Amino acid sequence: MVQALAKSLRELARLYPPVPPTTDPLALIIWENVGYLIPDDRRQNLFEELAQRVGLDAAPLADAPHDILFDIARRGGMRPADRVERLRHIGRLALEAGGDLASALRIASPTKARTLLKRFPGIGDPGADKILLFSGVETRPALDSNGVRAMVRLGHATEGASYAQAYRSAVSALRDLGPPDRERLIEAFHVLRAHGQVSCKRSAPLCLSCSLDAACAHTATKGL
Ligand code: SF4
Repeated sequence: MVQALAKSLRELARLYPPVPPTTDPLALIIWENVGYLIPDDRRQNLFEELAQRVGLDAAPLADAPHDILFDIARRGGMRPADRVERLRHIGRLALEAGGDLASALRIASPTKARTLLKRFPGIGDPGADKILLFSGVETRPALDSNGVRAMVRLGHATEGASYAQAYRSAVSALRDLGPPDRERLIEAFHVLRAHGQVSCKRSAPLCLSCSLDAACAHTATKGL
């Protein structure tokens, strides 16, 4: 099982070149909140525009002019006015944490660091796992929903009765790969996410062209 997962990850790393990780926790939170259900390239453009026009630090974000934030938010999906408030709220929360979220997370206990991150909009346990991993605060596996779906279909995780159960099963399988290795876990996050977005799509997985087809449990059990 562990060897099969390691083999799948090696194959996916060959298919999806690694993306340089963003390591700043506040930037990662802003990234999640700058748009709603939009493709990555649009999110990237809006994120870069926000960085240029406002900045990615707590104080300028908390005090950012409404017109600038709204101009960016209106291109980021539905309910832009809510997103404006959310972005300012993120800035204020980071200020309450001392202004330097990376330092605040580093000096906090693991439990308090997670609790702090979950105060931010859009950040639940999976989001906290990602930020803690990417920022180097904790070396533990993280996945997004694309990665969880790919792990379940490949047979490396069980679906369970809820997304939370599937998530726990998937990160547990990654944990079983061996001693925690930050770079390897970040790579696993990226390649599984990319695979879930590009091939192992939610409603119509591209199994016929998938290079993991022969090893995929989902193909065998669901006839895709
Ligand atoms: S064969 Fe299909 S279900 Fe399996 S990993 Fe590939 S795309 Fe996903």
